[in-house]
Amino acid sequence: MKYCSECASELVVEIPEGDHLPRSVCKQCGAIHYRNPRVIVGAICEYEGRLLLCRRDIEPRHGFWTFPAGFLEMGETTAEGAARETLEESGADVEIEDLCAIINVPYIAQVYLSYRARMRGPRHHPTPESSETCLVAPEDIPWDELAFPTIWHSLRFWMADREAGTRGIHTLDITRRPRELRERERSHDSGD
Ligand code: ZN
Repeated sequence: MKYCSECASELVVEIPEGDHLPRSVCKQCGAIHYRNPRVIVGAICEYEGRLLLCRRDIEPRHGFWTFPAGFLEMGETTAEGAARETLEESGADVEIEDLCAIINVPYIAQVYLSYRARMRGPRHHPTPESSETCLVAPEDIPWDELAFPTIWHSLRFWMADREAGTRGIHTLDITRRPRELRERERSHDSGD
């Protein structure tokens, strides 16, 4: 952020009085622009024992599989956000049930909330965000083709509960970048 969203003056980065971290501060109007982690809400959607997966038609991770998930919008609850993302990404109408996983990903400043959800009917279809949508049996989840570690871990938690006949709320902190991401960044750094 370079300019103040209140008055359009140029911002400076400094630690405001009484604070302990550098912030973008407007010397003109005094506004302090905080940056905080973003919340991503997702839904592990079940229909007659099968799970709804979407093939991403958008970057990042184009072509990889995910359950519906996306950024929480202003003014909605996390459950509402998960249901909205599901409709947007797959056309499926779901009832959000209980929380399955809370996953912190501090290195990209994200918090993931993955809910369990029940599809109200069998309807789902490709959308501008998903080139393909399908219902898969749990044993057919394409583990090596999932889009993000958060999706992978959420589904693992879901599977473990299913096998144990429980419904837990699982927490996980992913504090290290996956090796693949580190390598991609290194090759960018070296100008590849
Ligand atoms: Zn300002």
